[in-house]
Amino acid sequence: MEIKRNILLNPGPATTTDTVKLAQLVPDICPREKEFADILIQMRHDLVDIVHGNRDEYSAVLFCGSGTICMDVCLNSLLPKGKKILVINNGTYSARAVEMCDYYDLPHINAQFPVDSELDLSAVERFLADNDDIYMVYSTHNETGTGLLNPVREIGALAHKYNCISVVDTISTYALLPINIKDDNIDFCMSSAQKGLMAMSGLSFIVGKTEIIEASKDFPKRSYYCNLHRQYEHFKNHGEMHFTPPVQTVYATVQAVREYFAEGEIKKFERHMRVQEAIRQGLAGLGFREVIKRQYQSGLVSAIAYPDDENWNFEKIHDYCYERGFTIYPGKISGKGTFRLCSLGAIDESDIKNFFAVFEQALVHCNISTPVKYKESTTCR
Ligand SMILES: *Cc1c(COP(=O)(O)O)cnc(C)c1O
Repeated sequence: MEIKRNILLNPGPATTTDTVKLAQLVPDICPREKEFADILIQMRHDLVDIVHGNRDEYSAVLFCGSGTICMDVCLNSLLPKGKKILVINNGTYSARAVEMCDYYDLPHINAQFPVDSELDLSAVERFLADNDDIYMVYSTHNETGTGLLNPVREIGALAHKYNCISVVDTISTYALLPINIKDDNIDFCMSSAQKGLMAMSGLSFIVGKTEIIEASKDFPKRSYYCNLHRQYEHFKNHGEMHFTPPVQTVYATVQAVREYFAEGEIKKFERHMRVQEAIRQGLAGLGFREVIKRQYQSGLVSAIAYPDDENWNFEKIHDYCYERGFTIYPGKISGKGTFRLCSLGAIDESDIKNFFAVFEQALVHCNISTPVKYKESTTCR
């Protein structure tokens, strides 16, 4: 079977291998069969192993949904009565967590920080020192809207110093940047199969401290479908998801996990870094400027300022590239025109070389002169 290969430079779903795509083509099966339950048991072990967790200490709990479901589940399930969440808010994804707290009426502190520079850890500590009712410190590892990387190990150390738990949205770093759940002081992390694992969308998962999940049995229940303990307990007692799992996505994820271990954590990490370096070189060659300083970047996302050229038209450039098999993505910084190029899929340097050949043609096609120009006032980094 010939499947056209598209290069996705958007922040997930990512470009997948043909073997992962084809793994979805399986004989029909009822997911309540033992054969399917066995697959889920193995997958839950593998998902803990990927972040080097001890299987006796950490559990993976699967959900049917996109990555956001895991943010929802953690926030609504892990807050005891009378306690507060400290949300470290320095990007669109942590702002989404604040929105969820508002939605569920969860007591929280919206700790807003600049979206384009280093997190002020001493300010984080002041929040913890001044509010002894904080139970959960919530942060986002890689703010995918900008590529800003948060120091989760240090955040987690502070959380633990004040007897709080550290919940981290690692949706766009899991299986991309090496994570060691214990050494990184993470109590709960999460992801979705279509991101770093390079599988299909529809399956998401939380990896967290079993002891805390068990304690959360007595925490207030705020959702029926999206409660962490309920789902965990069902896995524990019946070995499967409470309600219908995304069957074919699970098969694709099994194959993706196999390919993850075959490529290897470090080799895969190096490949993504190589891809991002090729992106940076391509951008520099055309005069484009990134909005986040390199030293604060995850290395998985480049957020690029729109140049000051009257012919600049993101939609037109996007369409030109899209028609030729390359997907670029708009940015997410309010008040600033930006676009993004991400490095998370089954792609390598040569794909980026091919992309820049097309991207350059798109600029010519739109009469944008290169190197592109910026007014003096535009952030230069
Ligand atoms: C992709 C992503 C999510 C989840 O997005 P979905 O569209 O629900 O899959 C959440 N947080 C971060 C940091 C992400 O990159």
